[in-house]
Amino acid sequence: TLSDRLSSVFTSLRGKGRLSEEDINTTAREIRLALLEADVALPVVRTFIARIKERARGTEVSKALNPAQQVIKIVNEELVEILGGQTRDIRYAKTPPTVIMLAGLQGSGKTTLAGKLARWLVAERNTPLLVAADLQRPNAVTQLQVLGERAEVPVFSPEPGNGVGDPVAVARESVEYARRQNHNVVIIDTAGRLGVDEEMMRQAADIRDAVSPDEILFVVDAMIGQDAVTTAEAFRDGVGYDAVALTKLDGDARGGAALSVRHVTDRPIMFASTGEKLDDFDLFHPDRMASRILDMGDMLTLIEQAQRTFDESEAEDMAKKLASGDDFTLEDFLEQMQMVRKLGPIGNLLGMMPGMGQMRDQISNVDEKDLDRITAIIRSMTPAERANPKMINGSRRLRIANGSGTQVSDVNGLITRFFDAQKMLRQMKGGGGSGMPGMPGM
Ligand code: GDP
Ligand code: MG
Repeated sequence: TLSDRLSSVFTSLRGKGRLSEEDINTTAREIRLALLEADVALPVVRTFIARIKERARGTEVSKALNPAQQVIKIVNEELVEILGGQTRDIRYAKTPPTVIMLAGLQGSGKTTLAGKLARWLVAERNTPLLVAADLQRPNAVTQLQVLGERAEVPVFSPEPGNGVGDPVAVARESVEYARRQNHNVVIIDTAGRLGVDEEMMRQAADIRDAVSPDEILFVVDAMIGQDAVTTAEAFRDGVGYDAVALTKLDGDARGGAALSVRHVTDRPIMFASTGEKLDDFDLFHPDRMASRILDMGDMLTLIEQAQRTFDESEAEDMAKKLASGDDFTLEDFLEQMQMVRKLGPIGNLLGMMPGMGQMRDQISNVDEKDLDRITAIIRSMTPAERANPKMINGSRRLRIANGSGTQVSDVNGLITRFFDAQKMLRQMKGGGGSGMPGMPGM
């Protein structure tokens, strides 16, 4: 797997400095292979790799993770980001019915998805109507009716005996019907062909113009791999769509199609279909997809655990140091601020200790820019100054300000803040008697 291969790339490097250019290149090659194996389209792979390289170059090797894990973490974060970050839900119309139109190649899973979506909408307390606007294949209407019955959702279809029927008219009438019958969502199933085809596109565009859908969903089979790109582009130009539904994710495909489609169309992937049953359906989750593309969900879990354990043990060390008050140095002060920002909820534990609420507030008012400035100032001090800030006189302050690109007033502010924090710690230690109450993990 990718994680094994990356681990062997990084046998030599561990927890020191930055990744070397050679490490980055070797890593990039492995990731490239993994993405191609997952069927991600080549141009997409290229762009992605360039991004990863850039980010890997700038990162310091973390203490918590080995370099392989760290690169995987970066790759995963970028993948999630490119896959859309967060899941997106349907945008409902201000005045019902909300019209959702499905478009895609034949066999991509539109009709099945229509049934699943209807069922899902019912579970979300909607009253959907399914519309059979695929009049191309003889049994398409029956297929939707069967699904509708299973989903317990009514199906609007052309009157039998009316001859072939006009899908545009059916779609238009269905919206009127839905309004009268108080269906708040209309799902229009359309016809597809095996390949991209002018007439099919025109029909889909005509239906679109007749009903002005609130959402057009492009339905694409994840198993078609790289072909997804050309199909996605053809439908984007021929009909246009607001979001994508990926189907057949239960197959062998690692789902590189998701990455390609997202990249090429810049449309969110909204739904994921993972089987033939009505329930095999969910909102699309970028994080799940990312670990599937990388094929290393387990590794990601390990990374999370390693990171968390590390953060917790750092917090514990810090708490011990705080409890002793006196040896609290500027280094500690800085580390503490960084940690509180990073830890979030764990940092909030500080607020539960006597006297520490104030400190926590003081620290959480620090924003990224502040923190950068504070870091620069402390880094510009000599080790002796950091250990014993009392020795930082006027001329030292000026030197530190110049060295860190800040003002003397910034240096003064920081030192005052530090002494306040130190004083608070001493009081806490003296007044509290037994010190901190027993806190889990502290
Ligand atoms: P349409 O031509 O776009 O309407 O596609 P259909 O909905 O008729 O689906 C084509 C075939 O794919 C049918 O046999 C479905 O049962 C199957 N299918 C659809 N979605 C999925 C899925 O998520 N997983 C699997 N395994 N099969 C699916
Ligand atoms: Mg169909």
